[in-house]
Order: sequence, then structure tokens, then C-alpha cells
Amino acid sequence: MSNSIEEKIETLRAELRKHNHNYYVSDNPTISDYEFDLKLKELEALESKHPEYFSKNSPTQRVGGEITENFKNVTHTNRMYSLDNSYSQEDLYDWENRVKKNLGVEKLTYTCELKYDGASINLSYKNRKLVSAVTRGDGFKGDDVTANVKTIKSIPLLINDGFLNDFEIRGEIIIPLDGFNKMNAERLKNDEEAYRNPRNTASGSLKLKDSAEVAKRPLDCLLYQIVTDSTKYKSHFEILQEARKFGFKIPTEIVQCTSMQEVFAFIHKWNTDRFDLPYETDGIVIKVNNLHFQNELGFTSKSPRWAIAYKFKAEQVATKLLSIDYQIGRTGAVTPVANLEPVLLAGTVVKRASLHNADQIEKLDIRINDTVFVEKGGEIIPKIIAVDFTKRPKDSVKTEFLKNCPSCNSALVRKEGEAHHYCLNEFGCKPQIIGRIQHFISRKAMNIDGIGDETVELLYDADLILNYADLYDLTIADILPLERMAEKSAQNMIEGIEKSKQIPFEKVLFALGIRFVGATVSKKLAKHFKNIDALAQANFETLIAVDEIGERIANSILNFFSEPTSISILNRLKEKGLQFQIVEDDTSVSDKLNGMSFVVSGVFEKFSRNDLKKTIEENGGKNVGSLSKKTNFLIAGDKMGPAKKVKAETLGIKIISENEFINMIS
Ligand code: AMP
Ligand code: ZN
Repeated sequence: MSNSIEEKIETLRAELRKHNHNYYVSDNPTISDYEFDLKLKELEALESKHPEYFSKNSPTQRVGGEITENFKNVTHTNRMYSLDNSYSQEDLYDWENRVKKNLGVEKLTYTCELKYDGASINLSYKNRKLVSAVTRGDGFKGDDVTANVKTIKSIPLLINDGFLNDFEIRGEIIIPLDGFNKMNAERLKNDEEAYRNPRNTASGSLKLKDSAEVAKRPLDCLLYQIVTDSTKYKSHFEILQEARKFGFKIPTEIVQCTSMQEVFAFIHKWNTDRFDLPYETDGIVIKVNNLHFQNELGFTSKSPRWAIAYKFKAEQVATKLLSIDYQIGRTGAVTPVANLEPVLLAGTVVKRASLHNADQIEKLDIRINDTVFVEKGGEIIPKIIAVDFTKRPKDSVKTEFLKNCPSCNSALVRKEGEAHHYCLNEFGCKPQIIGRIQHFISRKAMNIDGIGDETVELLYDADLILNYADLYDLTIADILPLERMAEKSAQNMIEGIEKSKQIPFEKVLFALGIRFVGATVSKKLAKHFKNIDALAQANFETLIAVDEIGERIANSILNFFSEPTSISILNRLKEKGLQFQIVEDDTSVSDKLNGMSFVVSGVFEKFSRNDLKKTIEENGGKNVGSLSKKTNFLIAGDKMGPAKKVKAETLGIKIISENEFINMIS
């Protein structure tokens, strides 16, 4: 019996491993996600019923859940080196000459690979099992991020027999571009700032404390080097091909070259084709193919002599600055945006670029009709690098930052120490009003289904809403006449608004859109002050006394509550029945058992043991696991072991029956 269960578990694990590989490495699934889930659930059930067959390398261990408070800093068995960089054909010829001279050979074979742009990782396998994953760190020591890395499905936790048993394999943890864009789309929808680039996001993900969070991120791992003492394989190319067969994700773009001419052809191809790749690359890596030669060449103090990176130039194009727009955010902050003559850059047409703020305009000395250089670096949004002053028209005039709000015409203000200009007409400036309402209904705030961002604008333009409290006065008759508004959508909208009255206080607080009061700060404030009135009455001192609340946030809160318009909107929301206080999870029935501790033992007539324990807590008492001098009562049921009774008696603990207990609380 037990044998067949063990076999069943092993068979399921092997099957799931294979399907994982087909899906995540070969990109060629052979069963549906649903079938996969069924198998995984089956395995989970068997494993939880039979903990004796637990394995750290089981496919069920990929969902994460392990929490790491502090990542252990560990010494690499084999140092992780950097790569020397080169930027021209000349550099590469120099490198080739050095290597040939060093080895005393005339001809060499190279492998060319893409240089993957992510976070370096060293995976150690012992006995074909993944035992650790460590970041590069300073090359000598890195952080042990094994729990997080195990959640990356393309990394095999156990490999089949036939490759090597003990080895290290190195690669880059990356986030493919489409996964990255999806993550950002989701963040923007939730009113969170977008991540800036895939590389930093990948390395940040490795350092998350909760591996279950890591499991949700679209991480992948591209591998490029095996470290082993084995002499089984003769060339770098060969060992990578074998590693791929055994389940490692080795990109297929690798080639072997027998001359520098072929290397240049590879560089030339990928200099343009790289923009069609699903992930980012910032260059290529050329390696001496023969592993024996690699050994002979060894390392300098920083990098291997047998490899060199060739860095692509960040693609830059020149185009014309047509005009500058000024956008007003929901907090009134002004962002200047450059409108450019459309130009093709890194595979996409670029029409706009952010100019950030007045300082940036000043620094670039950028003017309308200037020819400017635009670059797409690690960041997704293109940047203006510089102005081509040789092409500046004679009659050009220095750019003056906008003086008045483009929407409401009030004077823009830049406060001491702030990078941004602001429109202070909080309640009369359309983009601010609309932005605030859009924030109010967003998912992490009031989560109102049935209204989209465009609908907010429609409602505002139709004079139906001027602030978020007005949402709660809307009727179906109001909104039906709106453009493209069907009866059903109108109904959904009203229902969504009604439902939002149940949203808990901390989210309502966040929804109010007080500057610098994000989701996390709202939670802290709600927990501390418990209701809106206490928060409204707080002064500077009581505010900054709260964990993580600094001067900037405190002042912004004081500001909000000193504004009569905010107060009147707030009062209307209160009348409408929104949640303005936290719901204490209050299940207590009485405090009759306050300060008393209980041990429950045996079988009872009127309660299940769990109900009994719950009842103790509901009346203020405490359940303890075992008898000690501090225990007050032992509630003895039927079939209580005699040893317990003796122990209670020697400790002087009062033994009571179920009925005596009921008397205590009634
Ligand atoms: P750098 O950080 O510029 O010194 O570049 C060295 C790093 O490039 C190494 O630590 C690797 O993590 C990374 N790298 C990316 N792709 C490759 C590759 N195909 N071969 C070797 N190293 C690579
Ligand atoms: Zn304005």
C-alpha cells in the first residue's frame, strides 16, 4: 500500500516536471492548464496526507509561501566574475590577438550569445537536485534567495540522470517585456507608480520577503554558463546544448563562429533584431569555445580572459521638438511633455517624451523647433538626451515655464524645495477634479464597478458630478441620457456606487486622495485613529507620533482637514453611509473569564473541543496548550488521560467539569 502511494507521488511529480518543462522552457504545452491544475491538486492532496514523502524539490513547492526575513549572505564556491566590455570591431580584434598569443594558436572557435539584461544568479545542483540559488553580490559573496528562485517555473528543481550530478549553472533572472508591461498596466490601473525597467524589477523581485509574492511575478531565468570539474564535455557550445536537453532554459540564439568575420555578422544581425526579442539585451558575449582553452586562459582580477562583452550603442535618433504640453495631475502637479516630430526609435514610433520639470528644461536649454537627441535606454519611456545646438534656428527663444494653468488659468506655484510647479486651484481645475474622482473609484480605493475613467469625464462634462460625493446622488434617470449609456450599464453603475458604501474605512481614507496618503499610510492611520473624526482632530504632534508618518504627510493631512470644501464633501459622504470607522473584529461575548487560562482535555457532551475553546476566548479567557503552574483551570471531559489528572493535581490546578464551566460563563 505505502509503496504504491510513494510510486503514485513520484509518477505525478515526474509528469508535472515534464509538463512544466514543456510549458515554460520549450513553450510547447501538451496538456491544458486545467488538466495540469488537476494533477497538481492531486499531488498536493497526496503529499499532505503523506508527509513522510515530502520533498523540497516537488513541483508543489513552487507556489512559494516561505518568508525570508533576512537573506543569508553566503560565499560563492566559485567566484562570479564580471565581463570586460568592448565597443568596436577594433576592440574585438585586439582581444582576439591577445587570446591567440596567450594560447599560442592560429585559429579559434567562438560562441556568440546575447547578453541578457537581468539579475545574475548562481544555481547549485547536488545529486541532480537544486540546492541553492545565490545572487552575484560582490562576486565573492551573494544573497541566498533559494526560496524565491524555486518559484520560477522554468528552473528545474530536479534533473534527469545523464547530464552531470553536481555542478553550478549561471544565468540571469529576467522579466520578459510582455510580462513587464502587463505588470505595469495592472499597477497603473491601481493608481500605483509604474516600474521603471525590467532589470531592476527582476532584481527587486528576488529580494521580496514573501516567496508567494515572487511566485506571482512573471520571472524567468536564461542560463549561459556551467561550472564543473567534469571533463565530460569539450566545448562551451556542447555543454550548453546538453544542458538545454536536460531542461535548462538556454536561449537558442547562440551560435558557433570560426572567425571574427562571423562574430561581426552576429553582432550586426542582433544590433537591429534585438528589438523583436521577448526580453531585453544590452549586447552580446563572445566566448572561447574550447573548455580546455578556457581553463588555460583563466581570469584577470576582474573577469575571464576567455570572454568579452560587446555593448550595443543605445539607439539614438534626432528629431524636432514641435511643442511642449503641460499636464496637470490629480494633485495639481504640472508635468511638461515634449511633442516631437514622430520618429522611429528602437522599433517603435516615438511622438512624446517627458521633460519632468522646470529644472530639466533649464538644464537641457531646450527650445521649440530645436533638433533634439532622443534615446531609449533601460527605461521604457524615451528620454531627451541633449539639444543639437548646431541646428538651432537663429530666431529661437528661451523656453519659459508656463505661468498659468492650461486648464483653469490660475497662477502656477513652485514651492521652496519642490521640483514641481503646482496649480493650487484644487476645487476649480478640471484635470484635478476628474483625477480625484478617478482615483476615488479606482480598484484599490472604492473599487466601484461599472464606472470607467472616461465615464467620469462624461459625467463631469454633463454637470452631473463636481466631486466624488456627487456620485452618491446620481440616479438612473440622470445618467441614461449620456452618450452610449445603455439601461443595463446605468443600472450597473448605480449598483456599483451603492455597493461601495460597504468598503472599509482604510480604503475610504485612501480614496479621499489626500496628498501623500497612499494605501499603506491609510492603513496605518485607520488603525491608529480608528475613525475619521479622531483623525480630523489630530494635531501635528499626534500625527507624527504615528509609525511611519512624517512631517510631509502630517502637514498634508492638516491641510486637507482645514479646507472647508473638503469638510463639506466629507460630511456628505458620511450622510450617505460610507464607512468612516474601522470595524473592530469584535466577537467577544463577555469578559467573565478575563485573565484566566484553560486547558481542555477529553471529550465533551455539549461542545466540540473547538467550540469549547472558542467559547473560552469569546468570554475573555485564554487557551493554553499544556498544563503549567500558570494554568488556572483544567476542563476535564470524558476519556481524559489519568496522567493529566495527576499532573493537574500536583500543580494545584483546579479541575472542573463541562457543566461547571457553563456555570462560570452564564
Ligand atoms: P557586467 O555586469 O557588465 O560586468 O557584465 C557581466 C554580467 O553579464 C555577468 O555577471 C552576467 O551576469 C551577465 N551576462 C548576461 N548574459 C551573459 C552571457 N550570455 N554570458 C555571460 N554573462 C552574461
Ligand atoms: Zn488648474
